[in-house]
Amino acid sequence: MYIISACLLGENCKYSGGNNENERVCEFAKNHSVFAVCPEVEGGLPVPRDPIEIVNGRAVNQKGEDHTEAFEKGRRLCFEKACAEASKRGESIDGAILKANSPTCGCGTIYDGTFSHVKTAGDGMFTRYLKKNDILVITEEDEIKW
Ligand code: SF4
Repeated sequence: MYIISACLLGENCKYSGGNNENERVCEFAKNHSVFAVCPEVEGGLPVPRDPIEIVNGRAVNQKGEDHTEAFEKGRRLCFEKACAEASKRGESIDGAILKANSPTCGCGTIYDGTFSHVKTAGDGMFTRYLKKNDILVITEEDEIKW
């Protein structure tokens, strides 16, 4: 089973109220066992919401409001739900395809905390959590080899 960022599958859960539907990822989902998650919404954040970036290791919006707790709750709940679902299906979690550059789902690069669309090296908070749990993470910008 593969964990997928829900916005890549067309769910309107991104901060703007829209989605990041990606044709390749949707095609992948038709042929594989997948589980869609949105850790920010799972952590209790509304749609729409102010954009959040990682600033000094914390998840904050431009008003300076700190949502780190929601991010931590969301990533834990999403992983727990994915593990429970995989176990119910009699499968293991084989990897994750997450949204590039997001403070939650980004992998390898994320926005740099200046809210100016500048990217820096790093992983989103959910991605870091999955990697710590030995889950292989790629983004929709990578080649999907699975
Ligand atoms: S990038 Fe991740 S946290 Fe952001 S809307 Fe998509 S699934 Fe939700």
